[in-house]
Amino acid sequence: MLMVLRSVARSSVAGVREWTCANVLAIVALLLFAARGRIPDVLSIDVANLLFLGAPALMLAGFERHLGRRAPYRALAALVTASTVALGIFHYGVDAMAVRVALSSFFHGIVCVAMAWGLRPWAHPDRARYPIRFAFGAALTLAAAHAVRAVMYASHHDAQVTLFDSSPVNLVCFALGTLALPGLTLGAVMMANAGLIGQARYAAEHDHLTGAWSRRAFFGRAERAHADAVRRGGPLSLLIFDVDHFKAINDTHGHAVGDQVLADLVARTGTVLRGDVCARLGGEEFAVLLPDTDADAAVRLADELRRTLERADVAGAGAGVVRFTVSVGVASLDEGESLESLLQRADAALYAAKRGGRNQVQDARATEDVGETLA
Ligand code: GH3
Ligand code: MG
Ligand code: MG
Repeated sequence: MLMVLRSVARSSVAGVREWTCANVLAIVALLLFAARGRIPDVLSIDVANLLFLGAPALMLAGFERHLGRRAPYRALAALVTASTVALGIFHYGVDAMAVRVALSSFFHGIVCVAMAWGLRPWAHPDRARYPIRFAFGAALTLAAAHAVRAVMYASHHDAQVTLFDSSPVNLVCFALGTLALPGLTLGAVMMANAGLIGQARYAAEHDHLTGAWSRRAFFGRAERAHADAVRRGGPLSLLIFDVDHFKAINDTHGHAVGDQVLADLVARTGTVLRGDVCARLGGEEFAVLLPDTDADAAVRLADELRRTLERADVAGAGAGVVRFTVSVGVASLDEGESLESLLQRADAALYAAKRGGRNQVQDARATEDVGETLA
C-alpha cells in the first residue's frame, strides 16, 4: 500500500501524507504485536495498541483533508489518549485481555463510524461515485466488524481468550484486520486518482484564463449538438464574436488589463446566455452554441449580449475603467447543412459585422442575400 501511495505522492493531492503515515503506523504496530513475548509488554501491548488505533485515525484525517475539510486532530488525539488510558487500566490494573480486545474494537469502531460518516456518498454528489462508495463501504464494513468483535469479547470477558487460537472468530477477525487498512487505502488512492483525472479533464476542456470551454471541447460539443439537431430536425444556432480593437486595449492599458477584459467578458456572457456553451476559439474570439434556438431568437440573444458587454466597466490601469465592444456573427443551421459550413457562415457574418463598423450583430442570412445580389 505504501508503494501504491507513492504513485500519488507527488500529485499534491490533499490527504496523501496522512494516508502514508497511517500505513507506516500500522506496519510498526503489527510488527510490535507479532513480537509479543520477545519484547517488553509495554511495547507489544500498550505502544502497539496506541499505534494501531493511530492508523485509522490518520486515515480519517486524510479523508477529511482530501474532502476539503480540516482534519479533526484534537478529537482524534483525545480518542486515542482515552483508548490508551483505558487499555492501560485493563493491562496494569486488572490484566484482562478480553476486555482490552473489546475496548480496542470499541475505539476502532468509533473511528470507523466517524470515517464512514465523513465519506457518506450522498453528501458528495460532485465526486466520482465509485471511489467514494468503495471507501465508504470499506469504513462501514470495518465499523460493523469491530462492533461485532467488541460485543463478542465484552460478553465473554471472563472466558480464557487468546487472539491466536485458530477459531473461526479469530480467523475472521484476522482476515478483516489484515484487509482493513489496504481496503481503506485503496479507496483513498481511487479517490485521489479520480480527483486527478477530473482536474486533467477540466484543464483540457477549459481555457485557463477565462474559464470558458476550450476550442477542443467546443468542437466536440458542436459535433454532438449538430448530430442532435439533424436527428431531431430542430434548430441550432451559432454565435461567433470578437472583441473590437482589442489590440488597442492591450496597447493602452497593458496586457494584464486585456486579460481581465477577457475574463470579465466570459463571466458576463455566462449571465446573458445561461447554460449555453461559451468557448474561447482563440485570442479574443469566442463562440456560443445555441441548441433549440432559431435564427431570429439567436439574433435577439446576440444583440442582448452585445448591449450587455457594451455597458460593462472593467477596472483598468490606475483609476480608469476600460470599455469594450464586440462584433457578432450569427448563423443558424440550414437543412442538410454540415457543421463546417455553419461555422464558416457565422465567421463570414462576423467579418461582415467588422466591415460594417464593429459593435454590431450580423445575421448570416443578410450577408448571404447581399452576396447573392452582388453575384
Ligand atoms: P478587430 O476589431 O479587427 O478585431 O481588431 P483587434 O485589435 O481586436 O484584432 P487583432 O487581431 O489585430 O488583435 C488581437 C489582439 O489580441 C492581438 C493579441 O496580442 C491580443 N491577444 C490575444 N490573446 C490575448 C490574451 O490572452 N490576452 C491579452 N491581453 N491579449 C491577447
Ligand atoms: Mg478583435
Ligand atoms: Mg480576433
